[in-house]
Amino acid sequence: MKTSLVEIFKVGLGPSSSHTVGPMKAARHFLGLAPAETARFEGHLFGSLALTGKGHATDRAVLLGMQGETPEGVDVGRVAELLEAIDPQRFSVHFHNDEWMPEHPNGMKLRALDAEGMCLREQAYYSVGGGTIRLAGEDTETRETPETPHPYGCADELLRLGEEKNLPIWRIGLENELAWRPQAEIDEWLERIWRVMQECVEHGLGTQGTLPGGLQVHRRARSLAAALDPQDGLSPLDWVQAFALAVNEENAAGGRVVTAPTNGAAGIVPAMALYYQRFVKGADHEGIRRFLLTAAVLGQLYKENASISGAEVGCQGEVGVACSMAAGGLVAARGGSNRRIEKAAEIGMEHHLGLTCDPIGGLVQIPCIERNALGAAQAILAARLAINESREGHKVSLDKVIKTMLTTGRDMQSIYKETSQGGLAVNVAVC
Ligand code: SF4
Repeated sequence: MKTSLVEIFKVGLGPSSSHTVGPMKAARHFLGLAPAETARFEGHLFGSLALTGKGHATDRAVLLGMQGETPEGVDVGRVAELLEAIDPQRFSVHFHNDEWMPEHPNGMKLRALDAEGMCLREQAYYSVGGGTIRLAGEDTETRETPETPHPYGCADELLRLGEEKNLPIWRIGLENELAWRPQAEIDEWLERIWRVMQECVEHGLGTQGTLPGGLQVHRRARSLAAALDPQDGLSPLDWVQAFALAVNEENAAGGRVVTAPTNGAAGIVPAMALYYQRFVKGADHEGIRRFLLTAAVLGQLYKENASISGAEVGCQGEVGVACSMAAGGLVAARGGSNRRIEKAAEIGMEHHLGLTCDPIGGLVQIPCIERNALGAAQAILAARLAINESREGHKVSLDKVIKTMLTTGRDMQSIYKETSQGGLAVNVAVC
């Protein structure tokens, strides 16, 4: 695997990893390339970045990146003030709705110009999903990566390794990650993402009002949580949905979230971790670590062997992947075998195959927020099915479902892949 686990869970800001976090990182990166005599910076957005960029705040993210801000470091409470202070004569963003760049649907070009408007430097970037950016022409296959003790390229190889070396998936992931960074750094990363996930849920559950963007979507995590009846046997499921809604409402409001593995699908993994912590007997902090490491290993498989970009494969690559990661993670937290983890992850994705991305008004609100609540509930059911069934084996392997997700995504028309040109986006009026 050429992806570090740290790439799968990152602290960022809403509302989108591919359309907000990635473009902000690209703009920040470009600052380092621009010559000293630069008088003006221009950002040019193409394809899906242009078509849904306004709703996904891509223009604002690029402007912030051009000021040197980072997704992890920017003060989310001061974003409006920071944007207000930007000189529009020096920094501008342009939308090219009918043009697509060749290597990925999320393309952008950044330009540095002198005082006469002469282009001094241009760099093209692609935001390939989950906040990861790639320079145009960059070959990620040949990227230098550290040699890991347990190399594998797919889920079958991962399972084989686990059996040969008698290691759980989380352990394989952890020992491989040690080739990238020291144990202390991994521990710090795990603690940080778990802390930010909890803070995000807490903030979301404590906030009410209407989300920005003009759709007049009301935040409902707080009122839903307040109305829960502990005597109701299904209340854990209600809580899980409230946790997921809380995160995705924070995301839609441009708040601080953990990209897991994307922002649009950021609610499912934290909702599941909190479900484990609150409702599973014997849950402990080690279980949370097993959960996060296993989920990250599963996310890595999707990122490398298919895609986690809604613009490339539709929502199956975002909510479907998050559901799969959370289902496998929950089995690991509960001490389940590698085979049952693989089975849960497969079930989590199998029933999201073909899921389109059609956000109304280009905003990460409808269907995204509710879809996370349902995805989280489905992840619990997938994990329970994999744990409770007497047989470990199953007909459809995780590798097969990952391959199917990719081919299904490629066959999908582009109107269903984060362009807001099809589905709910055209059948529901924005008013
Ligand atoms: S529909 Fe799914 S993939 Fe599309 S923006 Fe919403 S969460 Fe992301």
